Amino acid sequence: MSCQLILQSGKERSVFRRHPWIFAGSVERLAGRARPGDTVEVVAGKQVLAKAAWSPESQIRARVWSFDPNEIIDNAFFKRRVAAAVARRGVSPRLTFQQGLRLIHAESDGLPGVIADKYGDTVVVQLTSAGADKWREAIADALQLATGCARIYERSDSDVRGLEGLEPRVGWLRGEAPAGEIVIEEHGVKMAVDIVAGHKTGFYLDQRDNRKLLGELSQGRRVLNCFCYTGGFSLQALAGGATSVISIDSSQPALDRAAANLALNPQLDATHAEWRCENVFDELRKLKAANETFDLIILDPPKFAPSASHAERASRAYKDINLLGCKLLAPGGLLMTYSCSGGIGIELFQKIVAGAALDAGRDARIIQRLQGAPDHPIALAFPEGEYLKGLLLQVD
Ligand code: SAH
Repeated sequence: MSCQLILQSGKERSVFRRHPWIFAGSVERLAGRARPGDTVEVVAGKQVLAKAAWSPESQIRARVWSFDPNEIIDNAFFKRRVAAAVARRGVSPRLTFQQGLRLIHAESDGLPGVIADKYGDTVVVQLTSAGADKWREAIADALQLATGCARIYERSDSDVRGLEGLEPRVGWLRGEAPAGEIVIEEHGVKMAVDIVAGHKTGFYLDQRDNRKLLGELSQGRRVLNCFCYTGGFSLQALAGGATSVISIDSSQPALDRAAANLALNPQLDATHAEWRCENVFDELRKLKAANETFDLIILDPPKFAPSASHAERASRAYKDINLLGCKLLAPGGLLMTYSCSGGIGIELFQKIVAGAALDAGRDARIIQRLQGAPDHPIALAFPEGEYLKGLLLQVD
């Protein structure tokens, strides 16, 4: 008989709402034996509600693969789910021609713990849960079948694997390293993607469409790009006709990569770009002390609050940079500001930014709310999927 996860009474409600996470506090007991990543039946009373991956080390004790109690979790299941996720990307005409594309967005694509990004003809997977880790080969086969890509690289080195009791794991799952570096074109700009050492799977694909918007806003503006990483926003600003682009990041390797990316694009005027290896918090203060102003400022910091428990400290950090950002804007200037912290919701983020504008003594209005690109969908049953939120503000 298959192993059963017996829910505490009352805890079946979130499963009925098709939320894929079963927390330790919801589990009454495990009837039978399961190793990490094994499939268990989720049971309330006598009824099987779902099939899930068991993860004894994690606070998220199980992640649901299927809410159909009769669905068998086998290689064919992953073939179906991966094919459906890849097909879903065809729904948006904006996505069809992208060389950098997220193919699988974990829980929101019905594959908890599975991320897959495609850069040209190379797919990079990141497996972050015990269940996903167990089905590595099935997922790689399914990706090859659905995409026709011969090269699949694994970048399972995210910190969250530790919470599942998993060691980091990186390397080629299918095929081998391409001869040169991987270069994608994004809205007419070439960007090299370092799938081995870059952040995440090598690139911040979630900001792709926001980078396009930024380019469209840049004509004739003096742009300040804070937390620029490999220069994605900076290069779109140059392409969009910015008169100057100052980019700040504390990582010299990221800035070296950014400068190399600029060199890949001889159509852009490199004399308009300046890269500064600085701490954004300090550099914004220095710019203010020097009475500098800008027409367009981007604030795309790293995750200050990985979870709700970090929210207070993170709020202060967001407030600080947004306050300085508002102060540095010329009248009528634009602030494009983001939070990718799961622990900070959109309402709280907006409140923080409103407080920052107030303290800066500036009236500001939201021109547009911003989110991740459409290849990073958010399942309605899984609001946790909405980690990236942004505001485009005009500041008087
Ligand atoms: N906007 C980028 C992604 C930003 S990722 C894109 O579209 O690709 C966040 C970046 O912030 C990283 O490159 C990291 O090196 C940098 N960073 C983190 N803390 C910093 C700090 N205090 N000052 C400057 N840069 C910082």
